[in-house]
Amino acid sequence: MPEFFNVLPPADAFEVVRANVAARTEPELIATADALNRVTASEVLSPEFLPAFPRSTMDGYSVRARDTFGASEGMPAYMEVVGKVAMGRAVDVNLATGQTAEAYTGGGLAGGADAVVMVEHTQVVNDTTIEVVRSVAPGENVVQVGEDVRESEPILPAGHVLRPQDIGGLMALGVTEVNVNRRPRVAIVSTGDELVPPSEKPGAGSIRDINTFTISSLVTQAGGVPMPQGLAPDEFEAQREAAVSGIAQADILVFSAGSSVSSRDMTADVIGSLGEPGVLVHGISIRPGKPSIVGVIDGKPVFGLPGNPVSAMVVFGLLVRPTIYLLSGCPEPPEPATVPARLVRDIASQTGREDHVPVKLSRQDGALQADPVFGKSNLIYTLVRSDGMVTVPLDAGGLYAGDEVSVRLY
Ligand code: AMP
Ligand code: MG
Repeated sequence: MPEFFNVLPPADAFEVVRANVAARTEPELIATADALNRVTASEVLSPEFLPAFPRSTMDGYSVRARDTFGASEGMPAYMEVVGKVAMGRAVDVNLATGQTAEAYTGGGLAGGADAVVMVEHTQVVNDTTIEVVRSVAPGENVVQVGEDVRESEPILPAGHVLRPQDIGGLMALGVTEVNVNRRPRVAIVSTGDELVPPSEKPGAGSIRDINTFTISSLVTQAGGVPMPQGLAPDEFEAQREAAVSGIAQADILVFSAGSSVSSRDMTADVIGSLGEPGVLVHGISIRPGKPSIVGVIDGKPVFGLPGNPVSAMVVFGLLVRPTIYLLSGCPEPPEPATVPARLVRDIASQTGREDHVPVKLSRQDGALQADPVFGKSNLIYTLVRSDGMVTVPLDAGGLYAGDEVSVRLY
């Protein structure tokens, strides 16, 4: 039986990519409104102070703080109300000693004011007089000019994946366009004589192609542009042709299936025929996903994922996802969200192999518990019916019911 030589742990397999591939980033200026999940191509500096004017954090009255010193329930400070500062309007009221003006949350302060008294700490006496029953310090209940961001301050580094709050932060400063790196293009060649497009009814012995679509979706999620190349049969020339055209259009090439070592598996030979240096890793010490391939062709990363849809997704997460980020100019991809949970059943493994097991989460007396979804590993619904994955580390022989585990959420 043919064997894998040089089986590498997944982290080492990714290091092979890192060592052989450079981020060839290409910046483009795009609308900030469309920039969610994109990677900044350069450091962004603030063009302005934020806020641009002192803003009240409370509804109440803007005052000169010293006019309130000593005020209390028993000895309130009486103040003359000389107007208000309307929201969205320029300030047109100035305070002299003993005067105050209405202020609103997020609105400006009257000229000469340096603090805001909360409305809860005042009593209306008549149309033009209030009692202030609590003193305020200068600056109290006020956000100062530049307190959020100062002009010219770096607000986002290069290589940063833009999140919703970053989009908001840029918009707050009027930065309506942002310089980001072009999204890496990922060509996907799905191989196998047994595959038909999902819109067709499979004939005897055939199945619908899942991987083109799971892999395309994962590419999109990682910030890349999927470029599916269609189905290729288990024939060397047909696969090679699809690969040559795919790699010409893309930054990364991904094969699905045919990555093992039987006579029906030929993606390794196809990758080897495409150029130099060719196949660099064949075999990774994980389950599922052992028959995986990492190659490089003229500086472009090429992956051979196993056909088993679960294996393909697991290996994608470990190798292809970080490669997409690497090529986007972000060497450390955002960590997937995790939750701690208690394992409800044992998971068997072997030392020297990293296992990835789908789990279903549920709550028991308020605590999260993780139930492994076993089943033949090539069943896509083991993933559909689960909430996340648990990893049994390389050096562990298994995990036990009752262990606290970290569940990586999808
Ligand atoms: P292979 O990697 O070619 O040995 O395929 C392993 C298993 O995955 C086989 O049962 C294939 O039929 C199945 N498979 C291969 N490609 C796909 C695909 N695109 N969608 C769903 N299942 C697939
Ligand atoms: Mg096959």
